[in-house]
Formats: sequence, structure tokens, C-alpha cells
Amino acid sequence: MTRIYFLLGGNIGNREEILSEAIKKMTKQLGKFVQTSALYETEPWGFTHEQNFLNQVVVFDSELSPLDILDKTQIIEKELGRVRKTTQYCERTIDIDILFYGDECIENQRLSIPHPRIQERSFALYPLEELIPEFIHPKLKKSIQLLKDECSDKLKVNKFR
Ligand code: AMP
Repeated sequence: MTRIYFLLGGNIGNREEILSEAIKKMTKQLGKFVQTSALYETEPWGFTHEQNFLNQVVVFDSELSPLDILDKTQIIEKELGRVRKTTQYCERTIDIDILFYGDECIENQRLSIPHPRIQERSFALYPLEELIPEFIHPKLKKSIQLLKDECSDKLKVNKFR
């Protein structure tokens, strides 16, 4: 069993419903659901988005390999990633990133774990800090708390619910 941390994010459609639908699908397919962080809302960057982003960290214990996990989460992204707008489909509504797979470091054509941008993204570090402030990033060898304190991304991240 490996403990896996995912970051879910979306800014299109009914964001909360889509995130909770993703968690339901992940629970059926990945293994044992452990917990989620609160939902965090991130203000858009300079340009216009339909809505602010909602992000949430979700934790599972799983027997699946990293690539099997990626295959399954990509299918879930596809299933949820299109919202019917009358007869047309619009773009992706959900992104599922694998942040940590236990304390393993994995680099191959399809995967980079820990996710290479964790330390640059407040919207990943806030929910991670809520759950595992003391966790040591297996590659950078720094705690989540320290990475958050050092992070230069000053984009506003607010607890949503
Ligand atoms: P994105 O457009 O941000 O959803 O990126 C998706 C691509 O990133 C996929 O083709 C994955 O193979 C690749 N990828 C690399 N590392 C990761 C990771 N840790 N979690 C999710 N996708 C990853």
C-alpha cells in the first residue's frame, strides 16, 4: 500500500460537484480513500477565466503502480472533462495531478513525481500544509511548511469551504 497525494483543480462548470464526482470515481478505482483537504479558491492570474479555480488535495492508499494510477486518473479526467452545453462540449473541467506517491521519486516519459511544480504553487502548498505540514518533500528534502514559507507565488489562495 502506498499513500498517494493528488491535487484536484477546476474552474469550469459546477466546480464543487465535479470535484466531488472525481473523488467518488477515484474511490471506486484507486483503493482506499483516506481524506481530503478543505476546498481552496485561487484568484485568476492577470487574464480572464470563467471562474476562479477551486483546488483540493485528496489522499488515497493504493496498491496500484504510478502508471496505473495515471491511466485511471486520465480516464476520470476525460469522463468528467467535458460538460454538455446544449449540443456542444466545452474544454476540460478538471485536472488531476499526482503530487506524491509515498516518498518515491519517479521520472519517466509520462510521469514526474513528486510533481515538479509543487514548490512553485501556493494552491498546492496551502492544502498540503493543512494535511501534512511536516512531510518532507522526497526530492527537495524540505518540509511542506518550509516550502510554503519560501514560495514566491503570492497569488491569493482562500479557504472556500
Ligand atoms: P496537464 O495538462 O497538466 O494535465 O498534464 C498532463 C500530462 O502531464 C500528462 O500527459 C502526464 O503524463 C504528465 N504528468 C507528468 N507528471 C505528472 C504527475 N505527477 N501527475 C499528473 N500528470 C503528470
